[in-house]
Amino acid sequence: MVLGPSSKHRWAYACSKLIDEFLALAYWKEKKLPVVIARLFNTVGPRQTGRYGMVVPSFVQQALGGDPITVYGDGQQRRCFTDVRDVVRAVAGLLRHDGAVGQVYNIGSQHEITILALAERVRELTGSASPIQFVPYSRAYGEGFEDMPRRMPSLVKIQRAIGYIPGISLEQTLESVIEYYRAGLPAPA
Ligand code: UDP
Repeated sequence: MVLGPSSKHRWAYACSKLIDEFLALAYWKEKKLPVVIARLFNTVGPRQTGRYGMVVPSFVQQALGGDPITVYGDGQQRRCFTDVRDVVRAVAGLLRHDGAVGQVYNIGSQHEITILALAERVRELTGSASPIQFVPYSRAYGEGFEDMPRRMPSLVKIQRAIGYIPGISLEQTLESVIEYYRAGLPAPA
């Protein structure tokens, strides 16, 4: 795992999660509290809000509203998105698996896409005429922010434990997010 310096505030989030993992494992070791640690990687699905800047609901709302789709940086950063229904299945599977106690698992997918390609896909699937607007990181997040150029979880451990393989394609997920936001839009006058 690679962590950045404390002078870059984005790393506070990763560090706080890591501390939680230490605490959970300590409870297991010292008090025998049965804990299972799941690390979720870019979970998406209907009813997710774009309020905290999450990219999929943000792009879908921008596309449906005819607003510019805001791609940060050059859009070449890559992510693997996982449908929330696959994530729930994985969490439930781990909870039923005795060997999972005291262990750490990644839950995610290995289907990679660049953020620019995601923006284009959302535009196609919504039939939107929204332009794609490149926004410098400094404007999106403030000076000195470090974005992750690539993030892909290893799924070897969870596959071995419970045979988990994500089954819902990004296309299907985007369709259901689009459907969700379309249903919430006021009917055209
Ligand atoms: N992103 C973007 N435009 C947006 C929101 C996010 O280009 O309106 C980018 C962001 O810089 C990152 C990726 O999309 O590279 C995923 O962002 P998100 O906040 O959904 O999750 P992260 O992987 O950063 O935890």
